Amino acid sequence: MDDIPSNNKITPKTCIRTGSQYLDGLKDSREIWIHGKRVKDVTKEDGLQRCAESLASFIDKQHHPKFIDDITYVDEDGDRCGLAFKIPKSKQDIKDKGKSYYEWAKWSNGYFGRTPDYKNASVMAFAAGSKFLEKGTKGQGGKVMAENMINYYNYVKKNDKVLTHTLVNPTYNHQQGYKGKFSEKVALQVVKETDAGVIVNGARLLATLGPLSDEIEVFPSTVLKATPDNVPFAFAFAIPIATEGLKLICRDSYDTGQSNFDAPLSSRYEEMDAVVIFENVLVPWERIFMYGEPELCNPAFSETNAVVHMMHQVACGKLAKSEFMVGLMCSIAQASGRDKDLHTKGLIVEVMKMAETVRALLFSAEEQAHEDQYGNFIPLRSPLETSRNLYPVMYPRMIEILQILGASSLMALPSESDFSNEISLDVERYFQLSNLDSKNRVALFRLAHDVAISGFGSRQSLYERYFFGPPALMASGYYDLYSKDELIGRIDSLINNK
Ligand SMILES: Cc1cc2nc3c(=O)[nH]c(=O)nc-3n(C[C@H](O)[C@H](O)[C@H](O)COP(=O)(O)OP(=O)(O)OC[C@H]3O[C@@H](n4cnc5c(N)ncnc54)[C@H](O)[C@@H]3O)c2cc1C
Repeated sequence: MDDIPSNNKITPKTCIRTGSQYLDGLKDSREIWIHGKRVKDVTKEDGLQRCAESLASFIDKQHHPKFIDDITYVDEDGDRCGLAFKIPKSKQDIKDKGKSYYEWAKWSNGYFGRTPDYKNASVMAFAAGSKFLEKGTKGQGGKVMAENMINYYNYVKKNDKVLTHTLVNPTYNHQQGYKGKFSEKVALQVVKETDAGVIVNGARLLATLGPLSDEIEVFPSTVLKATPDNVPFAFAFAIPIATEGLKLICRDSYDTGQSNFDAPLSSRYEEMDAVVIFENVLVPWERIFMYGEPELCNPAFSETNAVVHMMHQVACGKLAKSEFMVGLMCSIAQASGRDKDLHTKGLIVEVMKMAETVRALLFSAEEQAHEDQYGNFIPLRSPLETSRNLYPVMYPRMIEILQILGASSLMALPSESDFSNEISLDVERYFQLSNLDSKNRVALFRLAHDVAISGFGSRQSLYERYFFGPPALMASGYYDLYSKDELIGRIDSLINNK
């Protein structure tokens, strides 16, 4: 009774971590390679450190009175957890989750693609749809592997872990790849079974935020042909990043140490991508959720509805990102009075329509949320599929429009220190615009530079094209899912006078 406050409200136990708890958790034995050397401490490493700090600041926001009720919830045990973990039981739950995803995304204006709610939504869905995993017959058998998934969900939820995932085998030969086969030379595969678990060897790509995550999900690629020779490539498991034999090779960092003024996005949100190498890694049985069954692995994201929940989180992020692009372009247009120009308005309206398309699709998906085969709720899939197929086309067009609007101003820019050195008077004078003083103009266009042409910005474009998989495969899935029969019937009726 002593624990119950006088107002009779039980204070929930907090499972959400603080930023410093997250940062402390990254100081482990993980093997991360960047710029030709092994990293001692990712929280201190140039090119990684400032992104870790940004994520820590987001994690802290979970505790802020302004956000706490929108982005966390009290679970069935009375513990406060991230809202992405909540298994939705109503349309309102779906809308609440959408609001929470959008809030997380707004903190970086959509430029931190891998806020933890993305993977949390997926883990939640795999646990909520764990009946599907029960169909497994190999390994420990489906029942146990489904329990493994639920246990893992509870572990991640109650410890507020940050996850990355790696789903794709490196391509050795595209013709082989298109046939749904992988190369033993490079692809991640099971090489041995032991009492403790399985030993895996090979590589996977890619793990965005991998060096700054606690755990990695190694889930199935969605194009594994169901043949016996593909059995060693078929599995789903999750292990800590600090696992013996696990090695992450980072690309170059686009955070080159510039100030927040000079590089407003790359100095903050440089979520690293890494190729993941497994060298005789032991995966314990209790961390395996599917095993040795390509036919089970292939539809898993779809059948558990994990893909629907992930697309929901993504669409909320893309809305925040599109709104940011509209704001940026309008600011640029206003700065020099071009906001009265018909051509400029027309270009920006193109981006406004993209933002409103994403908003409408999101609204449509949430409003038509429905119960799924497991008795939980999901947003309507088709509008979210449309959004995820459109964005790889829309975002590069937004960048093209920004380049047209910004022209040389996107790169002909002094740096922050030029406002306090011996050329400061020149800089104050020659960089002003009719509606913006020099310093604010340089700040605005440096932001546009980081979006449109910096290394960080170019990687963002590549990310939007590919992070959800090859566009050709996404389009193929879209075609297959689309309700076509009635439409084909209309053509049939017309040409056959029915
Ligand atoms: C910035 C970034 C971050 C990423 N983060 C992650 C992550 O965190 N986790 C993760 O698992 N993955 C991640 N990815 C990887 C992403 O899943 C892959 O890039 C994507 O699946 C494409 O695979 P690939 O890069 O090997 O290209 P390839 O498969 O080599 O594709 C090259 C080209 O071939 C086309 N193509 C591929 N397959 C077919 C086919 N069957 N038929 C016709 N054309 C085809 C593609 O459309 C593309 O144009 C990320 C990618 C990027 C760029």
